[in-house]
Amino acid sequence: MSRSVFVETYGCQMNEADSELMAGLLRHRGFTVAATAEEADVVLLNTCAVRERAEERIFGRLGWLKSMKAAKPGMVLGVTGCMAERMRDDLVTRAPYVDLVVGPDAYRRLPDLIERARDVDDDPLIDVRLDRNETYQGVQVERVPGVSGWVTVMRGCDKFCTFCIVPFVRGRERSLPPEEVVSEVEAMAKAGFREVTLLGQTVSSYYERGRDFADLLKAVSAVEGIARIRYTSPYPNDFGERLVDALADLPKVGQYLHLPVQSGSTRILKDMRRGYTAESYRALVARIRDRLPNHAISTDVIVGYPGETDEDFQQTMALMRDLRFDSAFTFAYSERDGTQAARNRPDDVPEAVKGERLQQIIALQESISREKYAAMIGREVELLLNGRSRKNEACFVGRTSCFKTTVLAAGEFEPGQLVRARVTDATSHTLFAEALPA
Ligand code: SF4
Repeated sequence: MSRSVFVETYGCQMNEADSELMAGLLRHRGFTVAATAEEADVVLLNTCAVRERAEERIFGRLGWLKSMKAAKPGMVLGVTGCMAERMRDDLVTRAPYVDLVVGPDAYRRLPDLIERARDVDDDPLIDVRLDRNETYQGVQVERVPGVSGWVTVMRGCDKFCTFCIVPFVRGRERSLPPEEVVSEVEAMAKAGFREVTLLGQTVSSYYERGRDFADLLKAVSAVEGIARIRYTSPYPNDFGERLVDALADLPKVGQYLHLPVQSGSTRILKDMRRGYTAESYRALVARIRDRLPNHAISTDVIVGYPGETDEDFQQTMALMRDLRFDSAFTFAYSERDGTQAARNRPDDVPEAVKGERLQQIIALQESISREKYAAMIGREVELLLNGRSRKNEACFVGRTSCFKTTVLAAGEFEPGQLVRARVTDATSHTLFAEALPA
């Protein structure tokens, strides 16, 4: 009898890509993919552990699924991903009705674990073994059809920043061979995808038997049918001249770079064990802008890290003012059990101070973003169209090469089409444009 599975995804793009990987593995073993949890025999929550709030949300959802499971004998409920890896036994204590707890390196065993969970009405099955060689090479991923898709090219992280749980839940860095990445991207092009995003926790650290991320970008650029290539997230220390040269030479690679800085204070960066200083980060951005003047750059910033003084925070504000990122993801520090910071550094910045600093940095970035977007008015851009606008069916929505969401005035277009357009208006997050004659 065919069994159906529903995978519900929380967290980052890597998790979205992992859900597609699980769907592929299960489809290969005779499962069908259900559109909703209600229709499925197996429900998997693919979880995130980066923030406590994300975990609490998942417990809320599990509580809801518990009643569904009670009304549906034989239903299998599983938790996969980073929270499964981080919480393991605790998860089972708080949600004993869960049948499966499966970490990010154990997905190949998922179909067998589901079968066993179905047969054994007993304790939950836990498989959270990390495997430093697992890249899921050879697995046929089931992608949601569309214009844009993901390929996970490297997994894990060796950086061990003090505030971050990722190396503990995703294991050590390992990369998929370039030939495998290229054949995945070729299959995507055949299936109608026009844009691919290469994913990795620190994607610029990609390295496989003498081939680095610059080599990988060159190889993927040669795939016909793919109009744009994106990647996220590079790590500043692994962003060398070879990569900058490759970006300058590869027109298909989008002119956008997300380069997390985290703090503008060298003292805090040292404590975070980021491996670079504020000065070297500034120098890197200057070098990138010199060679790639049309690139948009965004970043991540944490305020209120343990020991952050007002002076440290002012240095972060100064860095943001000087480097003028196109956008920024800003967070107030929150302690995660299991990280080095949680073990060794008291969370000593008062919540009110964190909140105040966060507001200041958001306001600063908002004003910079507004100016950056307004500066695009009058410019000619090339849009890759995703589909029709949800707010106005007559319009299309696409993205510029520098990753700015753009609403294209009414016209006859196709999703996946590249359109030259002129920017006519802007807010701090969206551009508006009119197509230019072909
Ligand atoms: S580089 Fe640092 S912040 Fe990024 S995933 Fe690795 S440990 Fe976490």
